[in-house]
Amino acid sequence: MNLADIGTGFHILAKPIGPRCNLDCDYCFYTEKEELFPKTDSSKMSDPVLEAYIRNYIQSQSIPEIQFVWQGGEPTLLGIDFFKRVIHFQRKYAGGKAIINAIQTNGTLIDEAWCQFIKANNILMGISIDGPEVINDFYRKDLKGQPSAKRVINAIALFNQYEIQYNALVCVSHASAGKGLEIYHFLKKIGVKYIQFTPIVERTASTDEAQMGLKHATPAHANQAHINHQMASFSVLKGEYGDFLIDIFDDWVRNDVGDIFIMNFEWALESWLGLPSTVCIFSKTCGKALAIEHNGDLFACDHYVYPEYRLGNVLEDSLKTIIESPIQVAFGMAKANSLPNQCQSCEVKFACNGECPRHRFDITIGGEYGLNYLCSDYKKYFTHIHPYMKVMVKLIQNNLPVSKVMEVFKGPIVVIKQ
Ligand code: SF4
Ligand code: SF4
Repeated sequence: MNLADIGTGFHILAKPIGPRCNLDCDYCFYTEKEELFPKTDSSKMSDPVLEAYIRNYIQSQSIPEIQFVWQGGEPTLLGIDFFKRVIHFQRKYAGGKAIINAIQTNGTLIDEAWCQFIKANNILMGISIDGPEVINDFYRKDLKGQPSAKRVINAIALFNQYEIQYNALVCVSHASAGKGLEIYHFLKKIGVKYIQFTPIVERTASTDEAQMGLKHATPAHANQAHINHQMASFSVLKGEYGDFLIDIFDDWVRNDVGDIFIMNFEWALESWLGLPSTVCIFSKTCGKALAIEHNGDLFACDHYVYPEYRLGNVLEDSLKTIIESPIQVAFGMAKANSLPNQCQSCEVKFACNGECPRHRFDITIGGEYGLNYLCSDYKKYFTHIHPYMKVMVKLIQNNLPVSKVMEVFKGPIVVIKQ
């Protein structure tokens, strides 16, 4: 299960309560979007917008299975009744298609009533947790500055009890650096089976951006070599993210293949198998993962919710027309077209593809602007996992379980000096 999976068709992250949240995580890039909406705005998606979105989203796709992802802010602030209306409208417009719902939550409001509803409706859950209390609570605090980990761990225990399918969404920040194994072992201990790691890469706002009420810098654009390069204190530093993934990979590949599913490693395996990536960040192009705000406004991507990336409104425009619009196609193609030469000749390009354009604000060895901030981390990580991936591909090609890779590499970790 992968909540960020773009699969076939297109994919929309819905923000039914806009940027509103009951937590105030230091690194969150979304809560400051409140500045984009009128102060009087409730941030709640109204029934006319909800119905129009559900109808439009289902009718715009000719695939047999439609996946809705509800995110925030914190979507559970809307209560169970909102999601009952979601299911009512989905049934009304399904037209024979299968509907899947996924909710991404911070977990703090999850109780037995939520679990009964989630289970009864087969909803896939993504729950944010960065590790054991001391690591999670470093940046993930509520609006009163109180820690959140105990409530999240309690929600995970409830998910396990109710046999709900969930994915732990783990942000890798400066506070997680060097603690990959500690975090991984903790997650396993509390019963997590599906994990997705996301690096926190944020720059501080420039003076102009700060005047607009932003704390975080707007995404990197090609030809903006003058942008602010001051990393936010919580950002993972160069060198930290690659080592974090490698530490966990080395443990996982010897002990947990087939039992614990780490999306980052699954995506890598897709690349080694020669398959197109199912996640936008490692695809050649993007542009098929949009965001819809509570008022029906559509944006090019969840990370590009800024006025200049607004594509239309679901009350007025067909989603299919928006996806196929020249402006959105150009947005998606820019991911490949702006790739610097260093990436073009990189031996791990097939797996990396320059990752997400919003992280491309560094300079290449040749002086070209637009190299990914995490380039050296990705190069080290993909190079490190190469021999293991080759074995896994061979196993799959021979119809053998991929978990046999553990037998091949069991034993002490051999460190090869480079
Ligand atoms: S900009 Fe980044 S996050 Fe957005 S769709 Fe493209 S690759 Fe995905
Ligand atoms: S590892 Fe670096 S050079 Fe290679 S594709 Fe990724 S960002 Fe580009």
